[in-house]
Amino acid sequence: MLHITGSNSARAKTSNHTAILRLICQHGPVKRADLKDMLDLTLPTITTSVNAMIRAGLVRETAPDETGAPGRKAHALTIDPAYGHFLGIEMRDTGRTACITDFRGRMLYAAADTKLCTDYDRALRSAASLYRKLLKQSGLDAASVKGVGLAVPGLVDSAKGVLTMHPRDNWLDKSICADFRSLTAFRGPVRTMNNTASRAIAAQLFRQDLLHDADLFAYLLIADGIACPLVVNAPVMSESVIGNGEVGHMVMHENGALCSCGNRGCLEAYAGDRAILSVCTEAMQSGKAPGLKAVLGKKDAPSMEEILLAQEKGDPFVTGEVQQALTTLGIAIANIANLSNMDTLLIEGKLFDRAENQKLLTGTISKHLYSMVHSKTTFRFLKADPLSGALGGAAVAILNAIERYTG
Ligand SMILES: [Zn+2]
Repeated sequence: MLHITGSNSARAKTSNHTAILRLICQHGPVKRADLKDMLDLTLPTITTSVNAMIRAGLVRETAPDETGAPGRKAHALTIDPAYGHFLGIEMRDTGRTACITDFRGRMLYAAADTKLCTDYDRALRSAASLYRKLLKQSGLDAASVKGVGLAVPGLVDSAKGVLTMHPRDNWLDKSICADFRSLTAFRGPVRTMNNTASRAIAAQLFRQDLLHDADLFAYLLIADGIACPLVVNAPVMSESVIGNGEVGHMVMHENGALCSCGNRGCLEAYAGDRAILSVCTEAMQSGKAPGLKAVLGKKDAPSMEEILLAQEKGDPFVTGEVQQALTTLGIAIANIANLSNMDTLLIEGKLFDRAENQKLLTGTISKHLYSMVHSKTTFRFLKADPLSGALGGAAVAILNAIERYTG
């Protein structure tokens, strides 16, 4: 059991209803007696609350065959997927993805727009058109969507529904939830959260199998940039994500490479996909990466998949660049682990489609850990998924519905 000492109003306890519903979402099918033990509540309190959830259509009892114990009376509780649909959107400048899920976070429909939109209004219009496209594709009307979640990079004030800062494109103080509502006329709840934190929420709600016994976990996303929010894995906390997680802008070299944020020497100027692609493209154009050139043929700009292929084929420049990126990343992650003592680190990035790169990263992290204390950290690589941000958005919408439930 996690014990939090000291006071922090942002970490206030949630209501019993929210904590119970969240636990059913995270651990269902789960028995009432187990909920009682996990939350330290009385059985009558659990029963009264659960009965109201069943009446509201949020929760149902499992059929005997779902509990894995045929012939025994069913007592376990699970989220009722039929409660409603949720729509998640990840809005980045380099692309927008969207999906519709059920209340259990199972993806039912998905859509994407890969056009570059560095202008906030254009990017938001693209997000709104994906929303309309998904409604059309699914045949659902807007009223049956119980909530929308917007996952965006940068600093986000989730409580106010404001994108505070997206440094690369200079998107500042945008009322993104209100703007989305006025573009789409959607009348239900809209919530926003940082796009890596959204992925962490999806893992917390739907992938507790990856977080066994983890009181504190982190979600490392290496995409265009790098982020690594820390998450308190306790259902009784109203705000489980701690801080901003913007480790991509941790300074690794004073006066080093120029970062998209305007500072120099940031981690993502060395280890993000954007940095690796830019350095390798330049090397290829000046004849230093013939292996990459051979992989690309007539194309002039590589994708991460092609970088990995050139690495596999042994292009020395690409191999050296990827190794250097992973070493820098590993040192940064070891520093975070030394600071936070997290139990589990979930890692998502195209670089890790190659097992060799997974080994290099974990090797570098382990080398720099203060190992007497941190030997317990578990590293888990997730398959890089172009829709993970959209699913994160849907998870934020589902979390919002759970937190808004008042019994
Ligand atoms: Zn930076």
